[in-house]
Amino acid sequence: MNSFDVTIIGAGPGGYVSAIRFAQLGFTVAIIEKRKTLGGTCANVGCIPSKALLDSSEHFYDLNKKFSEHGIIAENISFDMAKMMERKNQVVDSNTKGIEYLMDKNKIKVFKGTASFKDSTHISVKNEEGSIEEIESKHIIIATGSEPAGLPFVTIDSERIITSTEALNLKEIPKHMIVIGAGAIGIELGSVYLRLGSEVTVVEYADSITPTMDKSLSKELQRVLKKQGMKFYTSTQVKEVKREGDTVNITAIDANNKEINLSGDYCLVAVGRKPNTENLGVENIGLQLDNKGRIMVNKNLQTNVSNIYAIGDVIEGPMLAHKAEDEGMFIAEQIAGQKPHINYNLIPGVVYTWPEVAAVGKTEEELKNQNIDYKVGQFSMRALGRSRASGDIDGFVKVLADKNTDEVLGVHIIGARAADLITEMVIAMEYRASAEDLARICYAHPTYSEGIKEAMMDVTQKRSIHS
Ligand code: FAD
Repeated sequence: MNSFDVTIIGAGPGGYVSAIRFAQLGFTVAIIEKRKTLGGTCANVGCIPSKALLDSSEHFYDLNKKFSEHGIIAENISFDMAKMMERKNQVVDSNTKGIEYLMDKNKIKVFKGTASFKDSTHISVKNEEGSIEEIESKHIIIATGSEPAGLPFVTIDSERIITSTEALNLKEIPKHMIVIGAGAIGIELGSVYLRLGSEVTVVEYADSITPTMDKSLSKELQRVLKKQGMKFYTSTQVKEVKREGDTVNITAIDANNKEINLSGDYCLVAVGRKPNTENLGVENIGLQLDNKGRIMVNKNLQTNVSNIYAIGDVIEGPMLAHKAEDEGMFIAEQIAGQKPHINYNLIPGVVYTWPEVAAVGKTEEELKNQNIDYKVGQFSMRALGRSRASGDIDGFVKVLADKNTDEVLGVHIIGARAADLITEMVIAMEYRASAEDLARICYAHPTYSEGIKEAMMDVTQKRSIHS
């Protein structure tokens, strides 16, 4: 019998990061993964491959549409789809191999196979060949993540009606890709193919794209993507998706009850993700799930079975790699007797379009709903010298601060490099900075971060300089 202090089920960013932290703290650790490679959704079919394709497609788009304004003339531009995908696969490969190396370096025992609970301290692992190994463990961390959710009336055939997983592996550029769902995944993958020449139409049930973000960001992102050629139907409910040969026909109903009919050669269903607890044997240990199928945990990430914990996409909260990683470290430190902390209000959210969109803290809609008095500062990227120099003039920085104390409650950025800029706002908000604090520090010139200073100055006395 294999026996460990800690066994982690799932080697995504939650699981593998947790395994390393446990090992650093002196525990004997096993990790079980059913995929051939480590790294979970994020490294294999999520964050990393999508960003590789976003980067490749952005280079192509810039060369095609933007470089001429810089006086760079390129003619007969083309791209090699197979090479682009091969590069993406190499990026994935180097990431997953890097994780294998880290497991080895930290003396973490890796089991490849599907884990299932026998009881609260015993797990069986069935590998691809069907042979079964048993593991005994004092603590067990469930980090089984999530998988694409579907629509009850849509059959994913993985050829023409696809999820994000297949969209990351297409062999041809769609003529017309219809994307159902305007969350980060749908918009990012829609952007990839738009830049490579597809017609892209996005259908969203909510009244705005990226519906969980501040409405003003969603509006600006939709405006900019429209300018790039993406088409949108918001407040529109898809009723039917049917494949006929190589064509996919979609019927939807808009807010005025008008029927919308769309035809494309690919339909990407990107309506969210569902927690992964299938075949885990949760019934054998009486594990409590909530009404969305997520594993229920207390504030210490402990389930109703006292030696079993859960982290990442399989529990409540934003389905983001950095949230899963932080929970992975939290649980190791918690079990080791330390006093770790996660501030769930300060988990940044990013959409890797161009311009990028990044936010942290409360949206204006949340502040209104919670009856919190607030003031707003806003500054347009187009007024920055750095933006004019690069030609990235779309977007803005919006700051929401407490009306009475001036504490920054939310920062919402759409603009060049917003994904990197948001970290300084997470730091500031973790230390509970006021807008005035952030208006009075010195920002290098010329940078996009000056947009933050200007927006902070706009919060009090509307004194931004360049607007
Ligand atoms: P996962 O990464 O889902 O890992 C869980 C692992 O558990 C999987 O490898 C699975 O095979 C394994 N597993 C499941 N059941 C069992 C079992 N019974 N036995 C053994 N193994 C099992 N997030 C970001 O923060 N930034 C991004 O830019 C971003 N982009 C994304 C783009 C796309 C296209 C997608 C799909 C997702 C993206 N995400 C992004 C979300 C991110 O990938 C997830 O939030 C993150 O991977 C969750 O980590 P996790 O460890 O909880 O689970």
